Amino acid sequence: MSTETFSFKSEAKQLLNLMIHSLYSTKDIFLRELISNASDALDKLRFESLTNKDLTPEGDLKIQLLTLGGDASQESEGPRRLVVSDNGVGMSREEMISNLGTIAQSGTREFISKMNEQREGESGEAVENLIGQFGVGFYSSFIVADKVEVVSRKAGSDEAWRWTSAGDGEFTIESADKDQAGTEITLFLRDSDEENALEDFTTEWTIRQTIKRYSDFVQYPIELEVKRTTPVVAEEGEDDEAVKEKEPEPYWEFEQLNSMKAIWKRSPDEVTDEEYNEFYKHITRDYADPAERHRFKVEGTIEFTGLLFVPSSAPHNLHYRDSKHGLQLYANRVLIKETSEEVLPTWLRFMKGVVDSPDISLNVSRELLQQDRHVKTIKKSVTSKTVKYLKSVLKERRDDYVNIWETFGEVLKESVADFEQGKKVQPLFLFKSSTQEGYTTLDEYVERMSEDQSHIYYVTGESVDAIERSPHLEAFKSKEIEVLYMDQPIDEWMMGSFFEYGEKSLQSISQGDVELGSEEEREAAEEERKAAQEEAGDLLGVLKGKLDDHIKEVRLSNRLTDSPACLVSDNGGMTPQMERMMQQMGQGVPSSKRILELNPKHELFSKLKDLFESDQDDPKLGHFAHLVYGQALIAEGSPLTEPVAFNAALTGLMAQ
Ligand code: ADP
Repeated sequence: MSTETFSFKSEAKQLLNLMIHSLYSTKDIFLRELISNASDALDKLRFESLTNKDLTPEGDLKIQLLTLGGDASQESEGPRRLVVSDNGVGMSREEMISNLGTIAQSGTREFISKMNEQREGESGEAVENLIGQFGVGFYSSFIVADKVEVVSRKAGSDEAWRWTSAGDGEFTIESADKDQAGTEITLFLRDSDEENALEDFTTEWTIRQTIKRYSDFVQYPIELEVKRTTPVVAEEGEDDEAVKEKEPEPYWEFEQLNSMKAIWKRSPDEVTDEEYNEFYKHITRDYADPAERHRFKVEGTIEFTGLLFVPSSAPHNLHYRDSKHGLQLYANRVLIKETSEEVLPTWLRFMKGVVDSPDISLNVSRELLQQDRHVKTIKKSVTSKTVKYLKSVLKERRDDYVNIWETFGEVLKESVADFEQGKKVQPLFLFKSSTQEGYTTLDEYVERMSEDQSHIYYVTGESVDAIERSPHLEAFKSKEIEVLYMDQPIDEWMMGSFFEYGEKSLQSISQGDVELGSEEEREAAEEERKAAQEEAGDLLGVLKGKLDDHIKEVRLSNRLTDSPACLVSDNGGMTPQMERMMQQMGQGVPSSKRILELNPKHELFSKLKDLFESDQDDPKLGHFAHLVYGQALIAEGSPLTEPVAFNAALTGLMAQ
């Protein structure tokens, strides 16, 4: 029989070394990984056999463990080994090569360098998180084994293959015999050693503890072959002495280790935090504990239980709308769908967990779930329960909520486009603002508004720094009117569909007119501005003529105190940041012309007026127009639209 040798990523050896030496207290996680993989393989076979009768599994689906070469092993010869087998979907030769051969597929090198960084801090937990992020699940076997053999037969095929590796960058594949579909993994265990905290995984106690700890709720039986002895009994005519000398007869049998109890069906005060956390890790493959947990029961027209988690960090694919998200959907403890996006709006896609309802038909096709009446009701109810829960965190544990917001706030903001449920979410939004430390909610903002203030003001920008330098803020600062800062990329998009909060409208301070102060103050200011505008009308017209390509109007401003000029959009017009964003996404948008506002109280404006009065055709006027326009762009953090004209104007003025 020929054996082929393959080699995998050159970093494998290094990675292996790091893993073995980095995980101090949690070397046993390899078993959790193998059990999870086996449980996935059983799920896959169960689903596939629903539509393909040829794949109907032989016997009950289960996971079995047995030991070889250990003190309690039936076969006590040879090296100590732990065997984990399942009668699930199995793997073909090609699948073994591509699934087991490449560890930490994306970015092994990056992984190693991060591992090294973490190791300097000697923080075991952080290393675990890294392992999770980089998906080295199966590879963790090598933490406890110096050789791993995988024999697998794919359901529906009669060929079996053996994959063997010492985790050092090479593996071999040869054909093998296996009489049932599924996968059997044999770990050749490293010597157990108290110093490196490696337990003996051929002992019943160690295996029991580990399964109980990590995999008790797994929905398939996990069985271990255990050694038992028949009690010694006296036979006729034997006296006590003779009985004492008799050796008890050993025998071996499989015992189920896990309770298989659905954690969400157990009484809440019976489940420990650790059990919830392990369950979370099992369903998400996250390595860190969740940040929040919310368990609830809904009764009424439709009945269901929910057990939801907020992860403590964002997965790398959070912002790909196409990536899989959703909750596990069960019908009375039978898994219907692993990631059911049908029960969760996309703007809650960071939530993980389980929904179990006796009202969902077992036969509902996975394709038609979305149309299912019950599923729709569940989605609505999961949504409002979750929002309510998040509100309670905001109210009772603000710091914890801030963490959630900083991790997932951008996703929650997508809810502004949800016309049905979106409004409920807005009280959860947090913003930085011009007058507050930390974050404020919209309710808190409204609470602080003075009676004269009719809008909620906000300003968008690329960063808080850029926003704080914005000339648009000047009048608001001097009048101590609070402005919300929108500094995240999604904010531009969000404000395209977020116009009012409760009774108050949201108003960008760089769009349209601003009217600040009491009604009288506003009227007085507006009158003054109009008068000045009339007086300067000819000048403004000439300036506009010089900037015709870029500007649709030049007018006097109410919003400036220190800066000479700024650019504003029409109400509802596209902001320059939005335009840039669209352009970056490859969506050609015509630049919309904006309005150049001049500060009538600024010295520069008086100078312009003087210049204009003495000679309406002075070429300096053109230079000034371009400079003022360029400065307004720079001040708001936009690039110059015409650097050449700006330079020419600057040179022209300097030469004079
Ligand atoms: P992950 O499970 O995170 O994808 P692993 O390294 O643990 O990463 O496993 C890689 C792949 O190998 C799995 O996605 C699966 O396709 C396959 N695999 C692992 N164990 C089994 C098994 N017991 N039965 C069938 N396929 C398996």
